[in-house]
Amino acid sequence: MRTSQLYFSTLKEAPSEAELVSHKLMLRAGLIKRLGSGLYTWMPLGLKVLRKVEGVVRDEMDKAGAQELLMPTIQPAELWQETGRWALFGPQMLKIKDRHERDFCFGPTHEEVITDIARLELRSYKQLPVNFYQVQVKFRDEIRPRFGVMRAREFVMKDAYSFDASFEGLQASYGRMYQAYSNVFSRLGLAFRAVAADTGAIGGSGSHEFHVLADAGEDLLAYCPDSDYAANVELAEALAPAAPRAAASEALHDVETPKQTTCEQVAGLMGIPIEKTVKLIAVIDAAGKLVIVLLRGDHSLNEVKLGKVEGMDGFRFATEEEIRAAFNCPPGFLGPVGAPAGTRIIADRTVAAMSDWVCGANKPKFHIAGVNWGRDLPEADVVADVRNVVAGDPSPDGRGVLALCRGIEVGHVFQLRTKYSEAMNATFTDVDGQLKPFEMGCYGIGVSRIVGAAIEQNHDERGIRFPLAMAPFALAVVAVGYHRSDAVKAAADQLYAELQAAGVDVLLDDRNERPGSMFADMELIGIPHRLTLGDKGLAEGMVEYVARRGGDLEKVPLGEVAAFIR
Ligand code: ATP
Ligand code: MG
Ligand code: MG
Ligand code: MG
Repeated sequence: MRTSQLYFSTLKEAPSEAELVSHKLMLRAGLIKRLGSGLYTWMPLGLKVLRKVEGVVRDEMDKAGAQELLMPTIQPAELWQETGRWALFGPQMLKIKDRHERDFCFGPTHEEVITDIARLELRSYKQLPVNFYQVQVKFRDEIRPRFGVMRAREFVMKDAYSFDASFEGLQASYGRMYQAYSNVFSRLGLAFRAVAADTGAIGGSGSHEFHVLADAGEDLLAYCPDSDYAANVELAEALAPAAPRAAASEALHDVETPKQTTCEQVAGLMGIPIEKTVKLIAVIDAAGKLVIVLLRGDHSLNEVKLGKVEGMDGFRFATEEEIRAAFNCPPGFLGPVGAPAGTRIIADRTVAAMSDWVCGANKPKFHIAGVNWGRDLPEADVVADVRNVVAGDPSPDGRGVLALCRGIEVGHVFQLRTKYSEAMNATFTDVDGQLKPFEMGCYGIGVSRIVGAAIEQNHDERGIRFPLAMAPFALAVVAVGYHRSDAVKAAADQLYAELQAAGVDVLLDDRNERPGSMFADMELIGIPHRLTLGDKGLAEGMVEYVARRGGDLEKVPLGEVAAFIR
């Protein structure tokens, strides 16, 4: 394709609503446009990326023996009433009525619909196993849509559902999907980790999540570098007996946040269980730096003010402006934030609990709840959801100690067993003539979230560095002087035709722009390879090659480009 034919528009600055670098870059590169909260249009350039991700996902699903179908997005309430989830799913489900006042929802997931298909279509063990999948738009009315396509309300998911005659069969189907997921994320060039996971609202027994590793990820993962143990901390927490903590001491512990850190993580870092009675306060230390203090329940803000708390002489309360500045909060923003990297945090290990970030003398006027980003839990649950595993805790398999990292959940596989088939009376006739409920599995991939997660992991100060498998184009050919020089025009047109004939996914930049802004655009949108054609090089029969990931410029003879690029 030629840039003169491709609609794309790049921005120098990201709109202020974008907090995460991936969101900013997706907007700046013109991949997406915001329509409303959690609603995005995929512009032509962005859609190319999304389609590439879908392509890899489809290919691996097909190879694993799953078959694609497409279910409706709108689902009748009756199906959800059969499983009880019409009432249970909660406000994430967008409920709608048709003109006859009948209840429907915009599907947040499709277990009910596919189980209905199975009970109508699959009658005998001879038809099993079967795995159906679709790539489709879901709607979840997320409490806090943010980070662009990473936590959108309308998003693209690949969801697959397996039906087996026995638990052993389910385990085999699950194993195939687990492998297919690993293949997908490897092919997409992403650093990821599969972790044991909680089954959440979907239900069932065994479950794993696939996480793209990134500091901005909302999930905290615990893994053991010496074994293959890895779990979402929610689960690690449930499995591992709480490790013995440091003996109660009046001494204040002093740590620095390694990265953007929420209250929960601060507590996790320090091994402090969270209840409701203790405050996190923001103070300015003697050196004028903002420090967060976890204030024990039996200390009052007044004591802090009067410098009566041990180890806190020379502190004063931070003002709202100072907190906003340190936390990078826009005016008026009172949502959850984390302490930025490098914030000093002081806590007393005897602290029983904490709840809010509080600032202001006796009269707390500024609360920032210690909520992990995007968690769609009501406040009360957030407190119960707090993690207590800290790096260095013994691993539940007894084969080493745990390390922690952050992840973005991009895939989730579940062994549902017979939860849905029993509730919906979806049965088949087994080899012994008995009617049995299907053993089911379900397998989701956040196709659109992957694009954001990949950028979170692959970018630099100049923009996106797409892994080749999902780049909108593999190669940019920047023709400097295309509109001035007949030689450049002729060489560029010919090279473009040759590369296209050779099957290279090439974008010819034939715009009448300054070279600097053409390079900047090609870098911003993340094209992995770039060739530059200009009068000077052409005089020697050469073009210049540079990789988006860095490295030196290389001169390549014009005639050898096709072979060089392969
Ligand atoms: P999360 O914990 O991030 O809310 P989830 O556990 O609710 O995700 P699942 O029900 O497991 O999500 O759905 C399968 C996949 O769909 C997830 O692994 C994730 O990649 C993707 N996904 C879920 N919610 C969203 C969303 N709001 N925006 C984009 N992708 C999403
Ligand atoms: Mg969710
Ligand atoms: Mg989740
Ligand atoms: Mg999940």
